Amino acid sequence: MKSTPPTSRGGLSVDSPVVVEVSAVPSPSASPEQAVHGVAVDPHEADELHGDPHEHVTNTERAITLTFVVVPFVGVVLAIALLWGVGVDWFHVAQLGVMYLLTALGISVGYHRLFSHKAFKTHAFMRVFFAIIGAMAAEGTVRRFVANHRRHHGHSDRDGDPHSPHHHDGGVWNTVKGFVYAHVGWFLLKRPHPDEKKYAPEFCKDNGKNGVTFVDSTNWLWVTAGLAIPTVLGGVWGALTDGTWISSAFLGLLWGGIVRIFIVHHVTWSVNSVCHLWGTRPFKSGDHSRNNAIFGFLGVGEGWHNNHHAFPSSARHGLRWWEFDAGYVLVKMLSWVGLAWDVRTPAKTQLQRAQAKAEG
Ligand SMILES: [Zn+2]
Ligand SMILES: [Zn+2]
Repeated sequence: MKSTPPTSRGGLSVDSPVVVEVSAVPSPSASPEQAVHGVAVDPHEADELHGDPHEHVTNTERAITLTFVVVPFVGVVLAIALLWGVGVDWFHVAQLGVMYLLTALGISVGYHRLFSHKAFKTHAFMRVFFAIIGAMAAEGTVRRFVANHRRHHGHSDRDGDPHSPHHHDGGVWNTVKGFVYAHVGWFLLKRPHPDEKKYAPEFCKDNGKNGVTFVDSTNWLWVTAGLAIPTVLGGVWGALTDGTWISSAFLGLLWGGIVRIFIVHHVTWSVNSVCHLWGTRPFKSGDHSRNNAIFGFLGVGEGWHNNHHAFPSSARHGLRWWEFDAGYVLVKMLSWVGLAWDVRTPAKTQLQRAQAKAEG
């Protein structure tokens, strides 16, 4: 693993040629997990990385799986349109939007880029802030997320990947099964969780006494807060406008809380399922990760997933000008005000090398 040269804390590192390793194809000598995270890997597990990743999916089968994801989103938009003025108004849609953005960024920038990949550095209080807004997404603790995610990168689309859609035989039915498994089955079915002490050791240290580990140990509290905040704001808004505080509070809970969690969940899960099935592959990343524009936008940058697998430690997932990456915009803004530093992005030469490799 090449090390990142020390950079200033003023945020200039964004534009400086900070080194991020390209793990285009896992090398037999160093597992991607070691290369990316510095986490020691059981040699027996590392052996599983050799060979081709599983792949049995045709384009038709991919289209079917995408339908499973797109239809519920169309349903939510239709529900908003049909219930306008009755069960939803602009205030509650704004609550949905703001709470979605906050918690999706908590997962993308906090749980994923900061905690799982150490893609930038920040103050202790900002780490706690990201842990809290990530917890509000109701996707579990930092510790569990990081362990699952690092294992995913270490075994991507191979045996040992906790949520690959490719562990199955061909055919439409098996594709649907693989998709459902990658989307929700992997955590609904009783499977052993990755060893958190091995994959996320820094979050297993002080028995929940400090910072991020404290947020982890009180996870339920932050999930509840994520539901209570839009409920209270909805009630206050109703009381101040037309006096209907009870129904407005309920609508706040519904749109800013429950519907918002539904959308954040499906977008996050789609990165695991859709983004390993459907989209473009500009880089040879050694797995089946894909860039999917729908989830690039909806997922605050997470859908540029082939880019991410090619440059796992990069804080920037959208690498071309048109690949909008809201998560990286946030990191960059934080770096401007001194709240993020040592922001890791691929150097130009690394990008060129990876592109040449993909073309050749
Ligand atoms: Zn992936
Ligand atoms: Zn990742």
